Amino acid sequence: MPDFGKYTKELRKLIDDANHIMLICHINPDGDAIGAMLGLRRWILSLGKNAEMISPNALQKFLLWMNDVDKVVDFHHNIEEGTKLISEADLIIMVDFNSTSRMGKAEQLVLSSNARKVMIDHHPDPGTFTDMKISDVSRSSTSELVYFLVNAMEGKEFNDAEFITAVYVGIITDTGNFEHGYYTGDTMRTVGHLLDMGVNKEKIYNHIFSNFSPDRIRLKGFALHSRMVVHQDLHTAYIWLTKEDLERFNHVKGDTEGFANVLLTIKGIVLSVLFVERTGFVKMSLRSKGSFNANVLSRQCFNGGGHRNAAGGEMKGTIHDVVQHFENTLPSYRKELDDAATEMAI
Ligand code: 5GP
Ligand code: MN
Repeated sequence: MPDFGKYTKELRKLIDDANHIMLICHINPDGDAIGAMLGLRRWILSLGKNAEMISPNALQKFLLWMNDVDKVVDFHHNIEEGTKLISEADLIIMVDFNSTSRMGKAEQLVLSSNARKVMIDHHPDPGTFTDMKISDVSRSSTSELVYFLVNAMEGKEFNDAEFITAVYVGIITDTGNFEHGYYTGDTMRTVGHLLDMGVNKEKIYNHIFSNFSPDRIRLKGFALHSRMVVHQDLHTAYIWLTKEDLERFNHVKGDTEGFANVLLTIKGIVLSVLFVERTGFVKMSLRSKGSFNANVLSRQCFNGGGHRNAAGGEMKGTIHDVVQHFENTLPSYRKELDDAATEMAI
């Protein structure tokens, strides 16, 4: 097990000294954000302490089966309660994000709070807005990092059914069930322990990956058939979906999850983007292979961020404006795209 000594003593002290602990994850939380937050809370409860949880906005349906998600305060819809929790907190632990804007409307309140602040995250280039920063880009997920931190603080395996489930949810979400993303021997050893401890992998897999409506499958078929653009010379493929497309297939939040990954299965493609039109802006998801840095492209082109091989962003305008902006910018990355494609072909 890696040496977490330098972090864990200090973190344990902050938790022991706190009277009002609050955990907050990023906006549009995925399984890793929620897994890390629920898992960490379980351990804090085992110490005889409480921890409140805030999400900047509503949770996606596919996570609602998890125990204790009903205790997550959706800040967007419960500003009053969320504000109270933030103002009462004397320790705020931020999980699975590296920049303050990811807290949505809770950002200013959290930043102006006098509480001690801790970041637990695995994204590159973490900002400096917390008293303590536990940032480890070598982790598959923040949930994996929480697993190691908790076990180091506990001094042995924290064998709690909800903790185990939460960590597993985070790991399989951020790796697409070990299909992409960054995972290591440590990840697999963690998974090995979780399986030994009886994690229900079929049930969790079904909740996360086999939980779609027929409309969602049809939307995917339509997107791949009618809205896919492939620039083989630039090793890039993308999908664009208008608001009307989403309405036609009765879109619900989360339906387009995973679309961008499919495009990376085309031979020679090292960059894929999914553009989804919302009201007045476009949300994009980027995925890449090998050395091509989707995080850098997303920052430069879309004011976004993320990891090297999985990033996202938002841009004002119609879908046509945003796609045109991308088309205009893309050729300037030709060398990086060519290099990544060459590496992949070796
Ligand atoms: P997804 O495409 O699954 O929504 O996001 C992939 C990754 O990109 C996430 O893990 C997150 O780190 C990052 N990401 C997604 N959307 C945004 C965004 O609007 N801003 C920033 N900074 N990062 C994002
Ligand atoms: Mn994550």
